[in-house]
Amino acid sequence: MTKEKELQKLKEEMEVHTSLPLANTATLVFGEGSPNASILFIGEAPGFHEDKQGRPFVGRAGQLLDELLKELDWPRESVYITNIVKRRPPQNRDPLPEEIDAYKPYLQNQIDILQPKIIATLGRFSMNYFLPDAKISKTHGKLMRAKPYVVYPLYHPAAALRSSAIKEDLRKDFLRLPQAIAHIEHIPKDSLFSTDASDDTSSA
Ligand code: URA
Repeated sequence: MTKEKELQKLKEEMEVHTSLPLANTATLVFGEGSPNASILFIGEAPGFHEDKQGRPFVGRAGQLLDELLKELDWPRESVYITNIVKRRPPQNRDPLPEEIDAYKPYLQNQIDILQPKIIATLGRFSMNYFLPDAKISKTHGKLMRAKPYVVYPLYHPAAALRSSAIKEDLRKDFLRLPQAIAHIEHIPKDSLFSTDASDDTSSA
C-alpha cells in the first residue's frame, strides 16, 4: 500500500473511533502534507479555525508557520503538519494527559507511516511528548535524539505571536532547519539511533 493510502486508512479508522476524547464535540484534524516529507511538524491541538476547516495550522499561528516556510522556500505541501491531539479541546484549553494518551497510538502510527528524517515539535506539549523532561527555553533549536527519532524543538508559533523575543528565536531556529537536516544526513544511521533518548547530537 502507498503511504498516502495508509494515511487515508488511518484517518478513516480515527473517524469511526467515536469513543476517542473530544470526538463528540470537535472535528477531526488528521494532518496534511506530503506523505514523503523529510520533515514532520507536530503542534499541540487544533484551534477554532482548524476545527472549522478540518486542517492543521490555518489560523494566525498557521499564518506565521506559512511565512517561515516561505522564507525557506519550502512549499507547505512539501512538509507534513499534524498535532499531538487531533481534535480541538473546548475553549482551546491545554490538552489533558488522558487526551494525549488516547491519541498517542494514532500519532505513533502516523509517524511510522511517514518515517520523517526529523520531527520539528511546535511548543512544549509536543516537545514533552518526545522529551518528557526538556524545558523549551533551554532546548529550542537543538537537535535531540528521542529514540528512535530525531527531534528539533521549536517554540509554538502562537507563543511567538505574543512575544517578539520568542518570535525572533523561533525564526532563527526555523531558518536553521535545512542545516539540521543536512547534519542528520551526515551521521551514520546506526550511531544516530544507538544512544539513549534525550542525548543532544550537538547543535545543528
Ligand atoms: N495550534 C496548534 O497547536 N495546532 C494547530 O493546528 C493550530 C494551532
